[in-house]
Amino acid sequence: MLNARKLVVGLETHVQLRTATKLFCSCAVEFDAEPNTRVCPICAGHPGTLPVLNKEALRKAILAGLALASDISEYTQFDRKNYFYPDLPKGFQITQSQYPLCRGGSVVLGEKLGGKRIRIRQIHLEEDSGRSQHDSSTNTTLVDLNRCGVPLIEIVTEPDLSSSQEVYDFLTRLKTILRFADISDCEMQKGELRVDVNLSVKDDAHGISTLPCEVKNLNSISSAARAVEFECRRHCHALDTRSVTLKETRGWDDIQGITYPMRSKEATTDYRFISEPDLPPIYIPKSFVDEVRCQMPELPDALCRRLISEYGLSGYEADVLMHEPETTRYFEAAAMQCGNGKECAKWILGDISSAFGGVTGVARQSKIPPLHLAELVSLVSSGRISLYTARTFVLRDMIETGKSPAIIAAGILTDSTTNTELAKHIDAVIEQNPVVVADIKSGRTKAIEVLVGKLMQATMGSFSPLDVRRELLSRFAKVKIGD
Ligand code: ZN
Ligand code: MN
Repeated sequence: MLNARKLVVGLETHVQLRTATKLFCSCAVEFDAEPNTRVCPICAGHPGTLPVLNKEALRKAILAGLALASDISEYTQFDRKNYFYPDLPKGFQITQSQYPLCRGGSVVLGEKLGGKRIRIRQIHLEEDSGRSQHDSSTNTTLVDLNRCGVPLIEIVTEPDLSSSQEVYDFLTRLKTILRFADISDCEMQKGELRVDVNLSVKDDAHGISTLPCEVKNLNSISSAARAVEFECRRHCHALDTRSVTLKETRGWDDIQGITYPMRSKEATTDYRFISEPDLPPIYIPKSFVDEVRCQMPELPDALCRRLISEYGLSGYEADVLMHEPETTRYFEAAAMQCGNGKECAKWILGDISSAFGGVTGVARQSKIPPLHLAELVSLVSSGRISLYTARTFVLRDMIETGKSPAIIAAGILTDSTTNTELAKHIDAVIEQNPVVVADIKSGRTKAIEVLVGKLMQATMGSFSPLDVRRELLSRFAKVKIGD
């Protein structure tokens, strides 16, 4: 569709920092709180109140800069961006325009996209606005100020992205980095990561280009990618028909999958930026940046390489286990307990995922703590129980009762050394399988495994395969092989 045309996309991503309190006051940040109960004169913008910067928010913003390989500014300051909006009672937003906290940096896309480097222009700190909710039944608008003053970072890229796949990959990687670096939970359904897309299409052959549009407030990664696709088609159509696109801000209708005009940018809003007089400029000492750098958790790329080399996982297994930081932690806790990461990974990706509706559910459930998974893996690898028994009986019981697999296995496995039950089953399996028995007697001792399998199946895994094998071996030891 694009031919000689080039899609040019830049992103502005707002990310809510995970802090206990707001950016300039001590009100709690709580998503589910009753409306307008986490508000004080500072975040409600009463005249005469003074903001005080939350150091933890500054630390997390610096951490984000370091995780994205940005330069941390030695000097930074806040500015007022003036505009009126019902959910912004102060009449201005405290943000950073002239001296952002971080400059530069990049995110490298996946191999499928050629490992392309998407440059970051800047990262700045700012406060969120409140939330308006329109109630169509009474035709009123409700305003909740709980979100006023919640700390955000805005990550601005250079216009380096050129397809919806690149947008999708960039945002997925950005989200993973921010989550693993413990900067934000990035829960998109709570609006903790919101994307604005700036887009135009260039036609180099004819030396023309469409006017850039901005699609605001996309709150899922897939909607951002879909909005890019839609806008790309719309801009290409404009080039085809030689019509003009307006320089405008557009909204996204997720149900219809279309963008719609919100306001024209022809008359550029004058925000009348002024430096914030109530907050002192900040000089960030190198020692503070170094201190933050030391607290950096392991980042996704390094973690992925370590999972592969340390536990012998495949790239695919590592990828799935890194779906969420919680899943990785669950896996590593189990792997360290039993020393067998590969088997733990197989269980998590296989039976345990299917039992809890996908890998996301594994770390959230409480029936199988990592220690129990480790025990289960050890029981199987030591031969105390067969994989069949583990999968069919023990795991099911673990999920139903939350009991330890060792206790469950002890209940299933009867003490077969003093048990005549096993002897009876051995008699039966020998009697029922004369061909296999003849095979064993002719010297093919490996065929004993066939009898072990058959007995395990017939007894639904009630005996330890180790014991069954030992018992069978001793039986056949009594007859001289070759008889
Ligand atoms: Zn407050
Ligand atoms: Mn912003």
